[in-house]
Order: sequence, then structure tokens, then C-alpha cells
Amino acid sequence: TARAARATQRGPGRTADGHPIALLANVGGPADAEAAAALDLEGVGLFRTEFLFLDRAEAPTIEEQRRVYRRVLEPLHGRKVVVRTLDAGADKPVPYACPDPEDNPALGVRGLRTAWRRPDLLRDQLEALALAAADAGATPWVMAPMVATAAEAADFATTARRHGIAKVGVMIEIPAAALRAAAILSEVDFVSLGTNDLAQYTFAADRQLGALAPLLDPWQPALLDLIAFTARAGQATAKPIGVCGEAASDPLLALVLTGLGIDSLSMAPVSVPDVRTALATHTIDDCREIAAAVLRADTAAEARATATHLAHTP
Ligand code: PEP
Ligand code: MG
Repeated sequence: TARAARATQRGPGRTADGHPIALLANVGGPADAEAAAALDLEGVGLFRTEFLFLDRAEAPTIEEQRRVYRRVLEPLHGRKVVVRTLDAGADKPVPYACPDPEDNPALGVRGLRTAWRRPDLLRDQLEALALAAADAGATPWVMAPMVATAAEAADFATTARRHGIAKVGVMIEIPAAALRAAAILSEVDFVSLGTNDLAQYTFAADRQLGALAPLLDPWQPALLDLIAFTARAGQATAKPIGVCGEAASDPLLALVLTGLGIDSLSMAPVSVPDVRTALATHTIDDCREIAAAVLRADTAAEARATATHLAHTP
């Protein structure tokens, strides 16, 4: 039975024929990191650092950040940890990082853009991360959110490497970045698709508006096309391409993402067992066949139905 299969599956994520897909956790702080470390997963694919910056009048000091980052890195010792630099703005308000009122905060000075006005915030965070990495004997991967152009990716990479960060990446969560994925990949070591914001910006649909949920469906063909386009750019460069948005937690969509050439899936830890089982019961060729059929669908419903049908056909 599915339950018996689930109970016996352990270790690194892989398809039935052994193609590896790293299964990673999204975490928001030390408590999450400790909980994730106790689980059978390969590390953390998205450490959201915002919690340290929210609900306060000024940014945390380098020393305060250093202590917190160390408490995230230490429990996961020996495993991959991808730290995202501050993603302030819109759904994550941080007034001292984005001081001017804006009519459209989701389209405003947010994410990496806040470093245009407050480069000190980014420098301090990278400094704290480098110190914490040395304290913990860890080599975290570090990525920037809300990158739109290859030039921004290049600037971020220069700054992060100057601070001694060994693995530098960016999130692909703006359609412009997906369309220029190859140029961006030539500047950084890896990218991670943030499907929540990528859906929001592709469909011009506020991710917080429940009424727009049908447009924000991760099975929407336009979103899948952008993911497929980015994955192809990744395969051409042989650099890692992850997914860390909600799409990664859907077991059926995980098969599609794997078939498209994604290397790692990062999700709420509770979703890992079902994604692991889905992968373990399909070969990489199954995943590729499902992905190819899904890309031919004209609607989200048709895409999901196509995958459901093929995933259940032996
Ligand atoms: C995303 O946008 O998909 C993402 C992973 O980041 P966040 O949800 O924190 O914006
Ligand atoms: Mg995002």
C-alpha cells in the first residue's frame, strides 16, 4: 500500500530509478531549523531571515544576527542550508528598510532593491552570515530575493563574494528574471524559483487576495512555461536550479518539476513524506513524460488532470 511504501522510504530524495532530487525544508528561524534537523531531509532550501527584522525600529546588529544564524546553521551541520537575504517590503513590511510610503508596495522598493537605499543592511547581513558560518564550521549558500536583471545578480554576487560567501545565488521570482535565466546563471552559482511571487507577477494577481486564487494556481500553463524555460537554462549551464515556492510541496507537481530538470525541492517539512513517495514510485522517464504532456495543456485544470492520469497509469 501507499502507506507501507511511505514507511520504507528514507534517505535522499530520488526517483524509482535513482535520479536524485534533493528534498529540503523552508524554515523561518532557529526553532524551525532544529525541527527540520530532526527529520529525514537533506537540508534547508530556503531560510527566510525576515523574522529577525520585522516588528522593530532598527535593524538587528551584526552580533545579534550572527548568533541567530549560528543557531540555524549548527543543528544542520553537514547538510545544505540556503539562506535568503532580507526580503523586506509588500507582504513583509520593514519600515526602516523601505522608508517611503508607496502606492504599490509589491511593485516598489522591496527585496534586494532595498539595498539601493540601505546598502549597509545588506553588508551587515552578509558580514553576520560569514561570521556565523565560520562559528558553525558551515558553508551556507546565500541568495537574494526579488532580482529582476542579470546586472542586479552580478552586483549581488560581487558583494556576497567580497564577504567570503562561497555559493552565491538569486531567486527567480520575477518574470523578467525567468526570461533572462541564462544571463543570470552566468553571474551566479545557482538559482531558486520562488513560485509564489513568480505567479503573482506573471498574472498581475496579488498573492494575498483569495479571490484571485485561480490565477495563482501553480498549475497555470504560463507559470509552468516560465519554470520550464528557467530549467532549460539551468541544464545548459549545469548549475543547480531549485524550487522553493509552494509548488514544490504538491507531490504531483513535484513529478512535473523533476521531469523539467529541477534539482531540488524546498517545502514545509510536513510535505516532504508525500513528495518523497511520489518521486520514489516514478522513474525519471515517467516524470519527463508527465512534464511534456502537462506543458501541452491549455488550462491549469487540464494540466493537473493530465498529470493525475499519467501518474496513476503504470
Ligand atoms: C516565493 O515567492 O515563492 C518564495 C519562496 O518566497 P516568499 O514566499 O517568502 O516570498
Ligand atoms: Mg518571494
